[in-house]
Amino acid sequence: MFRAIFIFLSKAFWAQKLIMNWKFAWRVASRFIAGINIVDVIKVVKNLNDQGLNVTIDHLGENAITVEDTLAATKEVIDLLEAINHYDVHANVSIKLTQFGLNIDNELCKSNLQNIFEQAKNKQNFVRIDMEDSSITQETLDVVYWLKQAYSGVGTVIQSYLFRSEKDVTELTNECIPVRMVKGAYKEPAKVAFLKKNDVDKNFDHLTKICLDKISYCNYAEISNDGRFPPLIAIASHDELRIENAIHYANTKDLSKKTYEIQMLYGIRRDLQKKYSEQGYSVRVYVPYGTHWYPYFMRRLAERPANVWFFFSNFFRK
Ligand SMILES: Cc1cc2nc3c(=O)[nH]c(=O)nc-3n(C[C@H](O)[C@H](O)[C@H](O)COP(=O)(O)OP(=O)(O)OC[C@H]3O[C@@H](n4cnc5c(N)ncnc54)[C@H](O)[C@@H]3O)c2cc1C
Repeated sequence: MFRAIFIFLSKAFWAQKLIMNWKFAWRVASRFIAGINIVDVIKVVKNLNDQGLNVTIDHLGENAITVEDTLAATKEVIDLLEAINHYDVHANVSIKLTQFGLNIDNELCKSNLQNIFEQAKNKQNFVRIDMEDSSITQETLDVVYWLKQAYSGVGTVIQSYLFRSEKDVTELTNECIPVRMVKGAYKEPAKVAFLKKNDVDKNFDHLTKICLDKISYCNYAEISNDGRFPPLIAIASHDELRIENAIHYANTKDLSKKTYEIQMLYGIRRDLQKKYSEQGYSVRVYVPYGTHWYPYFMRRLAERPANVWFFFSNFFRK
């Protein structure tokens, strides 16, 4: 119920206007968001790299409604790939397809992606396609397989709350396409997704095992030395038990620490990021930046009642 309200608000224009006009909102949001432009984000990335953490950068934005917006977003990602190369930071890029026109026109989206992936190829970098809500899971995967025919540096995300994910993860790893395992951040109906946390967690562990089993089939591919190309699986969670279960299973299979990575969001569980990095695991931080921070911020509030309490107690005090 609580989560549903915040996912609803993440899509409500009136709420967006109200909250984005409030200065304190940005102060709270900036715990999760690196800044508004490429200069801001590169500064944060350098700092994380200095702490031994790799990064994936997300230029915030989703559900674009004009062609011009998709073209501007494409240019931004092309510039971002240039900046990563120029500053020689250990970072790759994550994108959401609805920012590039998936909801407008498939051909427009593909043409934007071609421009992005050509740049990624030239700059020897990797781009991961984030997973949005279940109404576009199949279209997203279709685009991933289409990209994979021409570009090796592509990966995607699997959400353990979806019933379909076992089939999807098996097919993706059959093609050795890198997968980020997450629980899932959207509000989904009971006909497509597990609603109980226990079931989502159980499936997370199950799907993670499927990926870890495939590491030998994919020739034990390791994370690249420059931190850009990830291994086959990223365990993306702040839930320590999920990470510990994955590590335990990897150890029973004698997998080296470079054949999988742990991912967490910028500003969340920094203690865990540090702990696993100091233990020699590859840890990658997902770092978002940009002016379209509202829906991302609302999803982060939805995940934790304590965040909301802190945020709204100040809102009513303003
Ligand atoms: C790198 C990365 C990329 C992601 N990409 C996607 C994607 O493409 N598509 C998608 O649907 N989802 C994505 N997610 C979000 C994911 O689906 C979950 O919504 C999110 O990670 C919270 O789940 P959890 O695994 O951390 O476990 P939870 O059980 O939700 O949380 C475990 C613990 O982590 C801490 N925590 C979790 N969230 C917060 C928060 N917002 N603020 C403060 N503490 C928190 C708390 O201590 C909590 O008890 C991504 C997550 C990560 C880490």
